[in-house]
This record gives sequence, structure tokens and C-alpha cells, in this order.
Amino acid sequence: MLPRSPLHLVLTALLISMSGACTSLYKGPEFVERVDRIDQDQLEEIIVALENIGPRATADSAATKRTATWIRGQLEGYGYTVIEEEFDAPTGARTPVVLVRKKDSGPDGETLEIPLGSRSSKELESEGWKTSGSYLKPVTVKALNLFAEIPGSELADEVIEVNAHYDTVSGSPGASDNSSGVAIVLEMARVLAGGAPSRTIRFCFFAAEESGLDGSRAHVERILQPDTPEVVALINLDSVGFYSEEPDSQKAPVRIPLVTWLPSTGNFIAVIGTFSTGWLGNIFEASADAYVPQLKYYSANRIGGFFKDALRSDHAPYWDAGIPALFLTDTANFRSKTYHRPEDTSEKMNFLFVSRVAQAATATVLELSTL
Ligand SMILES: [Zn+2]
Repeated sequence: MLPRSPLHLVLTALLISMSGACTSLYKGPEFVERVDRIDQDQLEEIIVALENIGPRATADSAATKRTATWIRGQLEGYGYTVIEEEFDAPTGARTPVVLVRKKDSGPDGETLEIPLGSRSSKELESEGWKTSGSYLKPVTVKALNLFAEIPGSELADEVIEVNAHYDTVSGSPGASDNSSGVAIVLEMARVLAGGAPSRTIRFCFFAAEESGLDGSRAHVERILQPDTPEVVALINLDSVGFYSEEPDSQKAPVRIPLVTWLPSTGNFIAVIGTFSTGWLGNIFEASADAYVPQLKYYSANRIGGFFKDALRSDHAPYWDAGIPALFLTDTANFRSKTYHRPEDTSEKMNFLFVSRVAQAATATVLELSTL
């Protein structure tokens, strides 16, 4: 919901400016050492390897499978056991079907969906069916979310999730959107392997984001089931590879004095949260300051929920479910001219920027995972 009055805007701005003053971190030497292991070359290698796999839209189940197999191989190479979550994702296509119902049966009687034109009405009638209607049915494919976990040593039932979607739109190799995010989550999994966090850390690789956040929706549905460990925070990395020092390289969906004023140079990571879970953004920002002071960020850590453009990625189903979630992004089409195009390729990425975002995100996950 958008703010409705100037007074509301000023009050919001005051509350935002008061937030985040007292975030304290642990920052033990073992955390610093893990964060320092993030390797820029490794991040680049992952982004190039995914580019070589090529576009992987949800409808292309062979490409999805190739990508999932590759991610699984990486995680297993780091010593993890990979957990899968299969779900039906819409391809965007629709197919005409006819609904038939057993003759003389009531509204709860037996029904059958058959492809339009596949059976004659005479044939159906002779078998006791009558046509009840026809419609366009969404075509679905099996899609796969992948997970790896480090179990918590003290609070195993409190889970910190960090995710990136690994699908692309059709025809785009998706270097920034979202191989950059996948590279960060994989690299984080590599450098944190073998650690003993207090809370469980779960690395998530969602499918079918571009088709409508279907992978994250399927997962949120699962984690809301009874007797499921509680997800206490999610960090979502989506499109985090673009960086520019050129003046006017950063556009904004909206600029409101005192509330949101994105800088006009695209040399920062946007930190997007909701009003009630701004503490999560505070931890990211404090971690960036403490571990990676070279990383510039723009804080929208309490106001994201007010803007439609801030709902366009996998954290949105978490917000809907009331699970604290933070969105980290280079702002995609507000900075990049190759968004969702065949030109979204690795040579346009800024790997130093990707590596700084990876360090700040890793530090955040470590800080969240400790008591
Ligand atoms: Zn994306």
C-alpha cells in the first residue's frame, strides 16, 4: 500500500531515520576469516559456467534439469547433501480441454478432463459421459527447488535461509538475472561448509521465479506446514551483478523527498525490506559497514513493502506469509539496459561488486546464525 498523505510520508521518514541506531554485531575472528574466503575468481567462474548452460526458462525442462544437476554437483563437491523440492510450475502456455461428467451424476459426480478434439461426442456419449464445459487449462511442468543445509548446533529449529533463483526468462543467459545471485549463494555455501552455526543455515536455489515466483511460493507453502522448523529470516539475492560509476546510470521507480531518493549513479546495492522487519536490513547494513566498508548500499530496508516494484522477486511470498525477508538487488532494469535480454552476459558484470555483495551477505548470514 502506498503512503497516502504528506503527513504520513514525513512520519515514515522520521521513523526510518530513527531505525538501525543500535545494531550490534559479534564479528569474531572466525567470522572475518570465513568472509575473507569469498573468492572473486570463483564467483566469475560460476557465472560463466551458468552462461555456458544458456537460457533456462521454466518451460524448457531440459535446460532446467541441466542447471539443477550442475548446481547439485557444485554443492556435493563442497560436501553437502542436496535436498530437492518438486512442484508444478506453469509454462505460460494454455491448452484447450473439455470437461465431461458421468451422466445422471450430481455436482460431486465423476469428471474427466480431455484435450479438445481428442474424442468425438458420440464416443463419449456411448461411454456414459456428457460434456460439461470447455476452457483453456494452464500447461505445467515439473520444476525443482534445491537446498543444502548446515544444521544449527544449538537452535537447529530456527533456520536462516539465503536464496537465489536459477531460472531465466526465455532467450536470456541471465548473467545478472540471476546467475549473479546463484554464484553468491553457492560461494557462500563453499566458504561456510564445515562450520557450526548456532542456528541452521539453509542455502536455497529456487526454480520458476520468472514465471511468477512459483518456486518460492511452493517452498513457503511447505515451510508453513506444522512441525516444520521455523524460518526466522530470508535473504534474497536477485540481480546483483550490475555496477556503474557513470553519472545518471541509475533510474528509480519513484523518488519521494525524505522517503526514497535512489542515488543517480548505479554504484550501490539496494537493501529492501518491510516496515516491520527493518531490523533484518539493519543487520545487513551493519555487517556491510563492519566487514566490507567499500560496499556502498542504499537503504530502503523499511519501505520496500510500500512499492510495487519491490515485490518482483522471491522474498514477496515470505512477506505475504509474515516471514522476515530482505531483498538485495542492483535494481535490475532501473540500472541495466540488458535486463531480460540475450545481452545479459558475463562480460557486463562487475565481479568486484559481486564479490563485495557476497562478503556482506555472508557476514549477515553468519551474524544471523549466531546467538
Ligand atoms: Zn530475477
